[in-house]
Amino acid sequence: MKGDKLMDIIIILLLIFLILAIILQDIFNPPTYTRFALPLPQPPGQPPLPPFIYFDIDTRFTPSEVSRIKTVISDVLVQWKGHLTQKWNGGLNNGVSSWAACTNMYAFNRLKPVWQLTPVPNGLTALNEAMDLFTQRFIENGFGGIVGKIHYHIPIPITSSTIRGQTAFRRNNVPLSITVNPTQIDRGDITNGVLEGSLVHAWLHRVGYTHPANTYTTYFSGEAPMCYMRGYLPKNPAVPDSIYTQFFD
Ligand SMILES: [Zn+2]
Repeated sequence: MKGDKLMDIIIILLLIFLILAIILQDIFNPPTYTRFALPLPQPPGQPPLPPFIYFDIDTRFTPSEVSRIKTVISDVLVQWKGHLTQKWNGGLNNGVSSWAACTNMYAFNRLKPVWQLTPVPNGLTALNEAMDLFTQRFIENGFGGIVGKIHYHIPIPITSSTIRGQTAFRRNNVPLSITVNPTQIDRGDITNGVLEGSLVHAWLHRVGYTHPANTYTTYFSGEAPMCYMRGYLPKNPAVPDSIYTQFFD
C-alpha cells in the first residue's frame, strides 16, 4: 500500500517535471521564422494592389513542405482573382462568379463576420464581401507590413488539424496567420485542392466568419470552401460533406 502511494507520487512528480521541461524548451528554443514573398495576381476593377504579399514561415518546415504551402496559397490567390474577374464582368461590375453562385445555393447561416452589424441577405453577397475582405487583408499585408505568420504544429491525434486560422474579432489590421500541420502537407493522398479548401476555411476565420464547433453544412465558412473544393459544382448526393469538412478546423 505504502509503496503504491510512493509510486503515485513519483509518477506525478515525473509528469510535472516533463510538463516543465516542455514549457522551458519552448521558452529557450522559440520557433524561428523566415520570410517569403508571393506575387499577388492583379484582378481588374480593384483599388491599387501590392505586387507581393509576405509570410513568415516556421523554419522547421522542410523545403518540400514550404514549396507545397506556397503552391496552395498561390492557387487560392488565383481563385480569388478569378472571382473578382468574373464579378467585374469587363467593367460592368455586375457579374456573379462561379464561386458566389455555388455558395448562394448552400450557405444560409452566419453570412457575416462576427464584428459586423449590417446583416447580409444571402450567400452570394457573403461570398462577394468575403473576397473583398481578402483583398483588404492583402493590401494590409503588402502595403502595410501586416505580415502573416505560418506556424508549425503537429496535433494529437496527428490528422486532427490541417490548416487552422483563429477567428478575428475586428475588421482591420489582422495578419493572415495560420497554423499548419506538416504531417498533412506531406501526405500524397491529399490533393492540393483539398489543402486549398482548408486554407480558404482558415482565412475565412481570419476575416471574422465562424461556425458552431464541428458544424459546417449550411454555414458560410463551411459551404464556401466546400464549393471551392468541388470546383464550384453542385453537391453530389453520394459524397457526404465530411469528405471535405474533415480538413476544416
Ligand atoms: Zn473553422
